[in-house]
Amino acid sequence: MSTLSVLVEASSCSWGKLTCQHGERTIGIILRAIVSFCNAHLGQSASNQLLVFAYGKNVEKKMIYSSARSENRNTSHVVVECLREILMGDCNNDDDVIGAPLGPALAHAFCHMKKHSRVATADPCDDSLGPAASSSNNDQSDSTKEKMTSRAVVTSMTQIMGSEHGSLMNLFFSAAKQCICVDVVSMGDDSTGGILQQAADITGGSFSHAQKPHDLLKILMTNMLTDPSYRTAFSKLSNSSVDYRASCACHHTLVSSGWVCSICLSVLCQYTPICKVCRAAFTITNLPKKPNRKRTLNFIRRYPIKSIR
Ligand SMILES: [Zn+2]
Ligand SMILES: [Zn+2]
Repeated sequence: MSTLSVLVEASSCSWGKLTCQHGERTIGIILRAIVSFCNAHLGQSASNQLLVFAYGKNVEKKMIYSSARSENRNTSHVVVECLREILMGDCNNDDDVIGAPLGPALAHAFCHMKKHSRVATADPCDDSLGPAASSSNNDQSDSTKEKMTSRAVVTSMTQIMGSEHGSLMNLFFSAAKQCICVDVVSMGDDSTGGILQQAADITGGSFSHAQKPHDLLKILMTNMLTDPSYRTAFSKLSNSSVDYRASCACHHTLVSSGWVCSICLSVLCQYTPICKVCRAAFTITNLPKKPNRKRTLNFIRRYPIKSIR
């Protein structure tokens, strides 16, 4: 039994940018790939569960499909209609900034998967059989618990997540602790995927960059359809070097050293008296007089980024 959460970026700017780059059939190709992947997961086993989330700035209802709540296990119509509706609504907004906040949808997905795993591992025949039967029930519960797996697949089109760095890292570490594997397919310009490459590495998942929309279905079906324990049978994705630099909240670029806000733990590539994320003000009187002098401030300190992990 496996619970899979599929998170799809639903920013109309990102979809539009991809369409400009790869032609007008891009949207149809991506939608078909996502729906085929969702149906393949549900088709593998009757006990498999599926959750589909859309994440973006103007997405109010993030969960667009849940197999536990729907009687229809064919996701084609529901997922395509919901994504179309969200993208059409997002087109009418004046906001033309590319990017979508992933954190809220990912946290939502993790909570649902945790809830599903609790329901699945609970004994459905528990009608107070008494203390004599308790040991066998525990054994059965343990064996069911071992088979239950939770995974998340993120299909990302942009990697601008500078202000979300702290919250996303917390989510990735909590996912690793809960044994939730996070797979990432990036369709953006940057093949490194930014922080999402770190997500796959921390949680034991796969990261892949789809250069063309046609590559999306191939990547999803060959590398992300099965649980990580079965993936040795397939060719390993090139995940040799993971870039563990943090992205700065001000310019959304990866930096190897920077300033860390002591309030919200955002990374800033240069000193500013007011944190650009949480608006916390820092005392300027404690600034070092000489640039080379090794003295830390009261409220903001300079750390090498690699020591964060
Ligand atoms: Zn910066
Ligand atoms: Zn801050």
